[in-house]
Amino acid sequence: MPYTKVFGNFPGKIIRTKIEVARIRSRSVGDLLGPGQGVGAANVCAAGGDVILDTGERVPYDVIILATGSIWEGVVAFPNKPGEYVEHVESWRRKIRAAQKIVIVGGGPVGIETAGEIKDTYPSKEVTIVQGDRLLLNDVYPDKASKIILDDAVKGHPHCMSRPIKTREGRELTCDLLITARGGGANTNYLKFLKPTPLTDRGYVKVLSTLEVLYHPGMFALGDIVDLPEVKQLAKISLGHADVVVKNVLQYLNGEKMTHSYRGSTDYMAICVGKGGGVSFLGLWWGFVFGDFFTRYMKSRTLLVEQVRDTLGLS
Ligand SMILES: Cc1cc2nc3c(=O)[nH]c(=O)nc-3n(C[C@H](O)[C@H](O)[C@H](O)COP(=O)(O)OP(=O)(O)OC[C@H]3O[C@@H](n4cnc5c(N)ncnc54)[C@H](O)[C@@H]3O)c2cc1C
Repeated sequence: MPYTKVFGNFPGKIIRTKIEVARIRSRSVGDLLGPGQGVGAANVCAAGGDVILDTGERVPYDVIILATGSIWEGVVAFPNKPGEYVEHVESWRRKIRAAQKIVIVGGGPVGIETAGEIKDTYPSKEVTIVQGDRLLLNDVYPDKASKIILDDAVKGHPHCMSRPIKTREGRELTCDLLITARGGGANTNYLKFLKPTPLTDRGYVKVLSTLEVLYHPGMFALGDIVDLPEVKQLAKISLGHADVVVKNVLQYLNGEKMTHSYRGSTDYMAICVGKGGGVSFLGLWWGFVFGDFFTRYMKSRTLLVEQVRDTLGLS
């Protein structure tokens, strides 16, 4: 993939392979002092550490930036390998084409947009969204979806072909395809053994306002994995996290005090309902809500595919 537009004339070394980061180890003060010295210092982190790749190779670092995103399930659990990716998309297209009664579990942006796309392409299919909360996302209502069940949930991955699935509240739903859209979880398994742990109970990374990882000097985190009270969105990274991390890393490497803090960024969300509509929210002042016309123009018509391809240098 030509990342020329993303990196320009990047002067560093890019390891661009199928290798995954298996584990990260911070250097402890004990490591620097050597055996017998500084008893009790083993759990105090000094700057830097090692990345252990899944090939076993060890890559030392002075600064590391963690941006491993979310783990998804079902239709949005896209594989990394190009061949598998295409097959994944094709197989879900086949399943949706063949199904008549589709239940979508989760009424967040992914569930709503999936319902909208299906109804746009196949208006006669019956699509039901089951949402665990009292409202969808907020009061966004995709009027093209045939049915919405609020305050109820589907647990696990029940088989829906042979018999109706049972919801938490005891409803029975007949369907021939179940699509889960219950949101992602933090992709931070490789940090499980990091001591002291900077992870919350749900696996999100605790950070200081500089976006440096708690207890680990020289380690920064951004994107979906960060434990911040905000919606996980690409927009939060490009309009907020990235700038703070880059400036602080440069100051850190120059031995200066880090002065840039992340204080949140403006909320903007556009949720498509098929190619022709949707709703958008801009969190400025008292908050603005825009309907079909604006959302169609901003996102629904193209899903911004061309803009993203252009940013990556793929056009
Ligand atoms: C269906 C869907 C629609 C969305 N629509 C929008 C939208 O309209 N607007 C918006 O702002 N946001 C949207 N989002 C959210 C947005 O995609 C995420 O917030 C954003 O991608 C998070 O960026 P990230 O850099 O944290 O992680 P990612 O984009 O997930 O990138 C993480 C990268 O790290 C790699 N990686 C993971 N683990 C390892 C490892 N151990 N070693 C090496 N590499 C690893 C992964 O392969 C991946 O390339 C959407 C998400 C979904 C699922």
